[in-house]
Amino acid sequence: MKKGTRKIDSFFKKMDRQGEAVSYNDIRLKTGYSEITPSSPDMDTSSLFSRRVKLKIPIVSSPMDTVTEAKMAIAIAKLGGLGIIHKALSPKEQAAMVGRVKHHLNAFVSDPICVSPDNTIGEILQMKKDKGYKFYSFLVRDSSGLIVGLVTHNDFDFCRDKDTRISKIMSTEIICAKPDITIQGAYRQMMETKKKILPVFNHDGSLRGIYTWADVSRIVLKSSETFNVDGRGSLVVGAAIGVGADLEERMNFLNREKVNVVVIDTAHGDSKKVIDAVKFCKKYYSQIDVVAGNISEPSSAKHLVRAGVDGIRVGQGPGSICTTRVIAGIGCPQVTAIYNCAKAVRGSGVPICGDGGIEYSGDIPIALAAGAHNVMMGKALAGTTESPGDIIHKGGRTVKSYRGMGSLGAMIEHKTSRERYGQTDLTPDKLVPEGVEAEIDYKGDLNIIVSLLIGGLKAGMGYVGAKNIAALHRKADFHKISGTGLRESHPHGLLNMKDAPNYRGEKL
Ligand code: 5GP
Repeated sequence: MKKGTRKIDSFFKKMDRQGEAVSYNDIRLKTGYSEITPSSPDMDTSSLFSRRVKLKIPIVSSPMDTVTEAKMAIAIAKLGGLGIIHKALSPKEQAAMVGRVKHHLNAFVSDPICVSPDNTIGEILQMKKDKGYKFYSFLVRDSSGLIVGLVTHNDFDFCRDKDTRISKIMSTEIICAKPDITIQGAYRQMMETKKKILPVFNHDGSLRGIYTWADVSRIVLKSSETFNVDGRGSLVVGAAIGVGADLEERMNFLNREKVNVVVIDTAHGDSKKVIDAVKFCKKYYSQIDVVAGNISEPSSAKHLVRAGVDGIRVGQGPGSICTTRVIAGIGCPQVTAIYNCAKAVRGSGVPICGDGGIEYSGDIPIALAAGAHNVMMGKALAGTTESPGDIIHKGGRTVKSYRGMGSLGAMIEHKTSRERYGQTDLTPDKLVPEGVEAEIDYKGDLNIIVSLLIGGLKAGMGYVGAKNIAALHRKADFHKISGTGLRESHPHGLLNMKDAPNYRGEKL
């Protein structure tokens, strides 16, 4: 095989000659000689979402108002993936959610939340509630900027009067660490002093930040090995942005909360407005990675790379709640779209996200084999405890709602949804939806669903003989299957089949 070519190239060349494009149900991976099993410790599912944003598992939750808010983003990052917080929120609300994820876990907090000695306990408890902070340890900073004390969980527990001022309960004896202390050093010092918060001051006496016990111990004792954290020790999180008038304001807020990556979330990524937005973000916020989409053609992928993107989101119409393909008559079956876009930018270092259409766990190794570096999912992660929205008991079923961001309901409610589909200024009676609103069965906790999805991915990699995603890209090849082949792939000819945890007859 020539350098730079892959086994799948001849499969897709043949498909192209025949004028055919394929999706998940049209193909299966060929098995290959294997020295790896799914449960082997050498099996490595790590990948990239964008040039600088890593993933321990190649799963990203979609920026949809029934899929990803702070709770989902925290849970999925703790499992090694990434959540993209949706943009049907004001810039301030969205940034507050990003902040919630960022403050959820912090080995070293460089800009800790400080309180004033004049604050009352009641005021601090209200701030915790408003901002969603789970922690109780705060440094106390006076009006001149000096750190004068510390309050921790105990101080709140043993003080019943909410009007008590912080200055009355704070401890003024602050044990601090040397400026160059490592996380291991911080762990040892905290063990010795039995203090759950360890401030670090610069040589000039200014505050450099704090170490917090829960996270330091979790990291040192490796109980957080699965967590997807950035270089500052906080959970990785992304946020969707649009190309409308609030772009600058949204970026400004998200930047303040130290978002890792923004996703320019539009239905047509190969457009002037998206390219201009990419250039704007790269020029003024170069520390934040920019992923853009959605696209499905190779020329579009090239345009985005030329504009300077750090990642590309592929998928126009494969989603379970999408109607774009039938309403607008456009799009390309998803696996061919992933292959063509990935091939067009092969060697550029820009990762590809295969977005939408994942029905079964076996679709994930297929998407990655076609050239994706990660998959984005809506339906497979919606309906979990961590997805936004209430659990509804209805006609003997337990359900949650799941809807397209281009559905009528979402478009009426959110300007950003109208903007995603280029219908910003239309009145409700003129809107042309490109998605539907639905309910799906409540599935329980996210970790169970993700473990089944990743289990299926590892099984697929084991059959191909690929111990990591790069090997899957190199070794994978496809069989095209017929309708009978597809029927044979599913359980068939049975009576009273019981649901398996990852197979319901009726998809995940
Ligand atoms: P799923 O995982 O449910 O198959 O697909 C989720 C993906 O569908 C999302 O990540 C997003 O790209 C896309 N999507 C979300 N809402 C809509 C919509 O209303 N219309 C269309 N065409 N696509 C949507």
